[in-house]
Amino acid sequence: PELSGLSSITSQSESVDGSEQQLRVYLRVRPFSKEELSNNEDQGCVVLESTETAALYAPKGSATMKSSEKGIGQQLHKFSFTKIFGPESTQTEFFDGTIKSQVQDFLQSRNALVFSYGVTNAGKTHTIQGSQKDPGILPRALDAVFRHISGRMYEHMDLRPYLSSDVQKLDPDQLRAERCAKAALFSLLKEESESIRNGQSRSSSSSSINSLSFSGVSYDQTDLRWVNVQTPEEASKVLRVGNRNRSAAATKMNQSSSRSHSIFTIKLMRLDGGDVQGMSELSLCDLAGSERCNKTRTFGERLKEAGNINNSLLILGKCIAALRNNQNDRVKSSYVPFRESKLTRLFQGVFCGRGRASMIVNINQCASTYDETLHVMKFSAVAKEVLQVIPSRSLESLAPRLIGRDGKPLLSNQEIDGQH
Ligand code: ADP
Ligand code: MG
Repeated sequence: PELSGLSSITSQSESVDGSEQQLRVYLRVRPFSKEELSNNEDQGCVVLESTETAALYAPKGSATMKSSEKGIGQQLHKFSFTKIFGPESTQTEFFDGTIKSQVQDFLQSRNALVFSYGVTNAGKTHTIQGSQKDPGILPRALDAVFRHISGRMYEHMDLRPYLSSDVQKLDPDQLRAERCAKAALFSLLKEESESIRNGQSRSSSSSSINSLSFSGVSYDQTDLRWVNVQTPEEASKVLRVGNRNRSAAATKMNQSSSRSHSIFTIKLMRLDGGDVQGMSELSLCDLAGSERCNKTRTFGERLKEAGNINNSLLILGKCIAALRNNQNDRVKSSYVPFRESKLTRLFQGVFCGRGRASMIVNINQCASTYDETLHVMKFSAVAKEVLQVIPSRSLESLAPRLIGRDGKPLLSNQEIDGQH
């Protein structure tokens, strides 16, 4: 059914926990890179004022600075977030402080959606996927899920009756049109009570994707496949295939893979006998870079694609603004335009069903990318923006609070905590 998204927000936030917000927005500021550190002129433009508030200072000469150049002041934009993670934050701290609770929701048959938003090179892939040595939230979520369901999975079960309708709903043609590299996982979880009663463990079958050898059957439809997996390692394999397809598609299009979305979904079904007791999806999305089209000149097919991606991010912004409005004002509900892009159509289930969404805003701190960063921050939904023009003199007194050149905020964590 077409819902505005309001009813689910209201019921969800009340049923789970009165203080829970349906849409959480986390800010993660990445450390300066070596190159950025060697460019001594760039002192950074981000100040973390507390664990919830960040400020952006317009550097001299930036486009947004012009209007206030004539005056005596310097522009300061403040934004608030559910929680802010500074450049010193580790992958473990980030996962524990953000997505961990949503993984628990997912295990209790509630949907969870996580997506990263920011320009290319802001740290989206690092945050979502990470590296082998320093894994991001996706491998950590997989690990947590499999640890939880280990020993309670069905073996060699025909999943097709359960899958057919869902596969259609996800509309692979449209996904392909947006060049989403989507790898989807499927796990079967035995009803908890039954497995305790039987006191025996079973594992699920796994299936094949492309040239990778999983045993069992594969359920695929064009580019979009549901793959039944048994272990986090198998799940990671699916992710690697998805990423390979993503970069292959990008190479063919003569562009960078940062212009495509990567959406990874795990589906979990609780069964008692043949009856479905609960079904939930956890989607982790590494979205295309949010940089605006006019910076890089694009032609023909590439232009069309850039247009599509920009459009889907634009609609995403509209949906988030409407959701934010509905969250703040439950009397006057805004229409949420999920149907206007393929990307947001995918997200609709989470917003309108039982579930929660998290947006991760990734930024770097360089003054040289101030304009793009400001654009990203303005997009970031629950972030309440307050624009102030402060006298230049008082900026100097704020200087010690700027993020240091070693990538650490000059305001220590204790000082930040002490403010609350
Ligand atoms: P994006 O996916 O947004 O284009 P990446 O995740 O690829 O950006 O990050 C760009 C570079 O910065 C990579 O080399 C990455 O390893 C590094 N990086 C990003 N975030 C962090 C972080 N929090 N700590 C350390 N390095 C980071
Ligand atoms: Mg990336």
